[in-house]
Amino acid sequence: MTTEELLLNAEKKALAGESLPRDTIIKLLEIDPDSQTADVLGAAARRVAAEVTGNKARIWASIGVDYKPCAMNCRFCSFGKAWGAAQDTYTLTAEEIVSYAEKFVGNGANWITLRTTEDYAFSDLVALARKIRQEIPGGYRLVANTGEINALRADELKSAGFSIAYHAIRLREGIDTPFSPSERGETLEEIRGSALDLAFLVEPIGVEHTNEEIADTFLLAMKHGAKLSGAMARVPVKGTPLYDQGLLAERRLAQITAVTRLASGYSAPDICVHPPSKTAMAWGANVVVVDVGAVPRAIGVSASEWNGFDIQRARGWFEEAGYHHGT
Ligand code: SF4
Repeated sequence: MTTEELLLNAEKKALAGESLPRDTIIKLLEIDPDSQTADVLGAAARRVAAEVTGNKARIWASIGVDYKPCAMNCRFCSFGKAWGAAQDTYTLTAEEIVSYAEKFVGNGANWITLRTTEDYAFSDLVALARKIRQEIPGGYRLVANTGEINALRADELKSAGFSIAYHAIRLREGIDTPFSPSERGETLEEIRGSALDLAFLVEPIGVEHTNEEIADTFLLAMKHGAKLSGAMARVPVKGTPLYDQGLLAERRLAQITAVTRLASGYSAPDICVHPPSKTAMAWGANVVVVDVGAVPRAIGVSASEWNGFDIQRARGWFEEAGYHHGT
């Protein structure tokens, strides 16, 4: 089969609701991202995005709740205590969080994510969700991005007003992080068995990750029932051990995003790219992230949107890529 035939076949399968086998995913990832074939791949992914999402773009607004040196020392994270980058500590107040959430919902964010470090008290996270739900009406969805949880905690999150959990087995989990992939897999199964939906991106992608590693991480997301997936590049933060590896090229990130679009079909209709990329939007990503507060890709707390990428800009980019922003 030629690469063009492989691509046509992948598009057909995605639209028929069929998953792609691992070897096809790897072959699609092997396409040179700077080639014209990559443009053909991107166009196929964009057509699938239009069908699967009803051509609707969505915005994921993420509030980093607490900023502090973290003893887990993941080798890509600015919070890692051992890297000495995060010196101060700062925890957003409930009022600050509600104020960010209110602004985001008012501007049309579809998801409000509360992201915490491993140390943040679970009871405080639950209380924050209740407060947001009480004070901000609307059809937005609340996402919890926190540490390991069990079935009881998943139920508690749900009853507090969360409807999605973000959780992932990251690339080189257990090598670049101290976490056990199997323990994280247990949390993913607890989420799958709960009333929460799962969001799981392939992350944090660096230049060193192989096509096989990327394919296997994506397949883990599918195995655990992710309803939102996509690709997140690692942003190099000075002082972290993986800083010297640099940043993935934009077309490579867009290519990986396009492959996740083709390979997830209707199973994960929302495909996210992070950091935001116009190329990835043109190649099938219908979700981008707007970040504030404690951001593990930056040093210090971002009082305004990380990198200046706010909801207005996200909407403008989606418009350029031919999407409607929808709920
Ligand atoms: S990724 Fe999470 S657990 Fe790892 S160092 Fe950063 S804050 Fe800590």
